[in-house]
Amino acid sequence: MSLDNSSRISDDLPQQVVAALRAVCGESSVALHAPRFKGNEWKYLRDSLDSTFVSSVGAYVDRFEADLAKYTGAKHAVAVVNGTAALHVALLLAGVQPGDEVLVPALTFVATANAVRYCDATPHFVDSNEATLGIDPDSLRDWLGRMTEQREGFCINRETGKIIRVLLPMHTFGHPCAMDALQAVASDFGLIVVEDAAESLGSWYGERHTGTIGRIGTLSFNGNKIITTGGGGAILTNDTALARRAKHLTTTAKLQHRWEYEHDEVGFNYRMPNLNAALGCAQLELMPEFLASKRRLYQRYREVFSGIAGLRLVGEPAHTQSNFWLQALLLDQVGAGQRDSILTATNDVGYMTRPAWRLLHQMMPYRNCPRASLAVAESLVQRLINIPSSADIA
Ligand SMILES: *Cc1c(COP(=O)(O)O)cnc(C)c1O
Repeated sequence: MSLDNSSRISDDLPQQVVAALRAVCGESSVALHAPRFKGNEWKYLRDSLDSTFVSSVGAYVDRFEADLAKYTGAKHAVAVVNGTAALHVALLLAGVQPGDEVLVPALTFVATANAVRYCDATPHFVDSNEATLGIDPDSLRDWLGRMTEQREGFCINRETGKIIRVLLPMHTFGHPCAMDALQAVASDFGLIVVEDAAESLGSWYGERHTGTIGRIGTLSFNGNKIITTGGGGAILTNDTALARRAKHLTTTAKLQHRWEYEHDEVGFNYRMPNLNAALGCAQLELMPEFLASKRRLYQRYREVFSGIAGLRLVGEPAHTQSNFWLQALLLDQVGAGQRDSILTATNDVGYMTRPAWRLLHQMMPYRNCPRASLAVAESLVQRLINIPSSADIA
């Protein structure tokens, strides 16, 4: 070796990252992800107020559901109060029973596992793939092959004796995971697929929108997502009976009647209010603009980060179209170990960056859950850094 270039470069890696961010974001402080309201938001909100229908009945709820179904290509969309509630009901609709296990990536936001617990089921953590950041189909197949047996058509965890009912992949930062391979594993092991597409509105796996590939999918419209309704979520499905049941369960399981209050089971008050749906209709109109702007930002970041040794910018997996919701840097062997110095240097000068979530099996409520080897997720989480990603940066 002539010159030990790599170690010299990695010594000032944090300052190189700051300089690269400055080239794209400018001199002022930048949030990780700020919402943007520049379309018909005020108009539709005013309209909703003027109508006095601000709560769980109103024209905007129906319109938002129809718009979402049209945009995603799902046959049905049911709007709810948030993405976590959407996941809760999706899992109930998938037939998750108390005592069941649900396969969840260890690398996800805590809501994915919380929704499993709301069903009195247990998350069973599985590993991620370095290219997609989603569940790795090969290690999943291998794990299930060793850990489970089929009994009366059910996939049984041989160690716990519990039914593993559902596979719950999540499309990390908007990048679609390997759905064909995951669907194949699910079908071979008798699992139902529910997609946590909270982060991936506007992301396509081939020709199919994320969240429409499994039996049921869920979206989130929290303030930090690609579009926001303040708080909100939706359930997507192509199954008409499931959609009808989703609406029933999320609207207190009330039977239709002009004045009688009759409820045929314990339902939930999870319906999205009309005010939030009004915001959603306006935000959804802006999706093409948001997507173009986020892809532009990705390209700008690529230019400035491509010359820096020790890291790469996370791109979209092959045969997918990502919404690039949250941009991420992934440190390699040269850069590994510098994550926290980069987080400190960038936040010190006002560029908000943060690591990925703490892995779920390391958090208090989930320490004792069943889990596969999580070697890739454990490595990824040491090396991932989210950088400013708002739609108006580039
Ligand atoms: C945001 C998010 C959720 C939950 O959505 P809320 O609307 O905040 O309840 C669920 N899963 C993932 C992966 C998310 O990023």
